[in-house]
Amino acid sequence: MVHMETSRPVYTYRGSIHVHSTYSDGLATVEQIAGQAAEAGVDFVIITDHNTLKGREDGLEGWYGDVLILISEEITPDTDSNHYLALGVGQAIPPLLDPAENIRAVRAAGGIGIVAHPTGGYMVHGEYKEYPWTNWRAGEFDGIEVWNHAYDITGKSKNLIQLGLWWLFPWLAPAGPVDEVLKVWDHFVASEGRPTVGIAGSDCHGMLSSYRKGLRSVCTYIVTEGPLTGSLSHDAALVYAAIRQGRCYVGADKVRDAAGFECYVSVGDERVHMGGVARLSRAPVLVVKSPAEGLIRVIRDGQLALEWRGMELEANINVRGAYRVEVALASGKRDKPWIYGNHIRVV
Ligand SMILES: [Zn+2]
Ligand SMILES: [Zn+2]
Repeated sequence: MVHMETSRPVYTYRGSIHVHSTYSDGLATVEQIAGQAAEAGVDFVIITDHNTLKGREDGLEGWYGDVLILISEEITPDTDSNHYLALGVGQAIPPLLDPAENIRAVRAAGGIGIVAHPTGGYMVHGEYKEYPWTNWRAGEFDGIEVWNHAYDITGKSKNLIQLGLWWLFPWLAPAGPVDEVLKVWDHFVASEGRPTVGIAGSDCHGMLSSYRKGLRSVCTYIVTEGPLTGSLSHDAALVYAAIRQGRCYVGADKVRDAAGFECYVSVGDERVHMGGVARLSRAPVLVVKSPAEGLIRVIRDGQLALEWRGMELEANINVRGAYRVEVALASGKRDKPWIYGNHIRVV
């Protein structure tokens, strides 16, 4: 189905997805997280405690001042591998060892299934433990956490000295998505034609950094055509729909505030947003606006198609494919990974 979108006003909201509270192994209560989110300037938070929706059952989902708190689940099997975010499911899904079963269960429940920290790894008592996603063929997941904040520090360090150093000086850690994960993401969207949303996971527990900092570390910005209204059911549906459709981008606010990024394909006087589909016959033009000077890279079907240094880019599209845009922030001698937009398919 080709879904065309018209150019109505759009709204963007800054979200922090994949957050743990005291309902599992996080240090803060849901109310405290809401307070920290307000201080951090985060519009919505999706809490995903391990194997539980108790927070929602206790009535804690909703608006806290200007912050919308939604409660979902991180399906966490005993093996430590194959963590899977189950967004928007009505009831907690018990973790099974086979990731295929968890994918099926989330799908059956009408939720959005996201592969969490796919190349996961962690220092436990001085020992490095892997807990990755083990089988990309396990089934039809809906998305991938392409940038996980906790993994920047704990996953990439291979010994305690490095871990300690990066813990104390997080800006020294090599922050950014793992190439292998970006390749897998492009593969599913471009080669298999499967809509696969890329999101950011802050994976906050209140341990590596305060919630205030962690919630703003790597954010998922959603683009919507209507505003959040203050009604929980309406707003939850709006947020989850934007994520499901890929109308969102990953913005690492720990690098620089990523609000204001725009990426769409203009066809006549219509705009096709990230996650959408445009027709080549309508002379599509890719439009990118970056909130700051950087290296804008256009990736088509997993390959670099165009590179441009600046804040804006407009490019005629002459070739079919799945396009996504990355921006690396200009910073001293090297550019820092910063923004990753979702794909727009041109057919
Ligand atoms: Zn996890
Ligand atoms: Zn987690």
